[in-house]
Amino acid sequence: MRPFSYVSAPDLPAALDAVAAGARPLGGGTNLVDLMRADVERPEALVDVTALPLAGVDELPDGGLRIGATVRNSHLAADKRVRSRYPVLAQSVLAGASGQLRNMATVGGNLLQRTRCPYLRDHAVGCNKREPGSGCAALDGVHRGAAVLGTSEHCIAAHPSDMAVALAALDAVVEVQSVRGTRRIPFCELHRPPGATPHVETTLAPDELITAVELPAAPLARNSHYRKVRDRASFAFALVSVAAALEVRDGRVAEVRLALGGVATTPWRAREAEAVLLGAPATEETFRRAAAAELEPAAPRPDNAFKVELVQRTIVATLRQLAGGRLAEGGAA
Ligand code: SF4
Repeated sequence: MRPFSYVSAPDLPAALDAVAAGARPLGGGTNLVDLMRADVERPEALVDVTALPLAGVDELPDGGLRIGATVRNSHLAADKRVRSRYPVLAQSVLAGASGQLRNMATVGGNLLQRTRCPYLRDHAVGCNKREPGSGCAALDGVHRGAAVLGTSEHCIAAHPSDMAVALAALDAVVEVQSVRGTRRIPFCELHRPPGATPHVETTLAPDELITAVELPAAPLARNSHYRKVRDRASFAFALVSVAAALEVRDGRVAEVRLALGGVATTPWRAREAEAVLLGAPATEETFRRAAAAELEPAAPRPDNAFKVELVQRTIVATLRQLAGGRLAEGGAA
């Protein structure tokens, strides 16, 4: 590990000053410190933000919730308001990592965690995320866990977060602050697809600190679910995952939110599928058509082609579960 300085920020202005001076924010450290040990991340300065007053989950005037950036994952998943009003979010957090990691990991850090593509840490081979211009070993190497949507010839790494998939479905808004002021970013604009610059992973400016995530009021979200498919029952990243919220009225899809994980380079809002679903009869045939529309532009490699079918089946299963007894006449498979 390389030498670095460490300071614990006593208040937000001090934290923002430190970030503006080049320090990296340190939350639970569950990803950043690992990557520093692997010599992938090389910050010269860290500013610990866990003492800041950003650890609360508060009501918003519109009936939504404001989640502070240093709320621990385990606290978020246990919050009764989150569990009842946004079950997809609580379920996504509980599907991620171990209890010990959730006790340490923060909401802000979760959103900025980096891909688990094995080549990111492998200094023996090229990785455009670790070293821009060095190539992408995953293209012809191990890529079973890689993305099939949002990829480029420079990087096919899947985004690793479960929580972020739920937040994409919930139309969350990310509040960021800097010495220049406060900015609010629609969640789906926070993460950047790799394009020609896979090492630039978000739209955050270098001096900006995530301070909160806001969940707008969404009665629809009470009927929501996160379904994760993985190689083993726990402590594994998603092969594919689906975050969905659904309202069926008179046999038709009245409202729907859908996002995918494990299959894309960013938390993937499934807008093509939503467009097919909205107003259509709530049948398995509709669900299948919607899933197929979303995966139409998929660009799989030989070892991750299975994800294209797997995620479509997972979309259908999740929507079927949320539709429950309200599947339209003749809608059962
Ligand atoms: Fe690196 Fe991305 Fe290629 Fe993985 S997929 S080796 S993270 S450039």
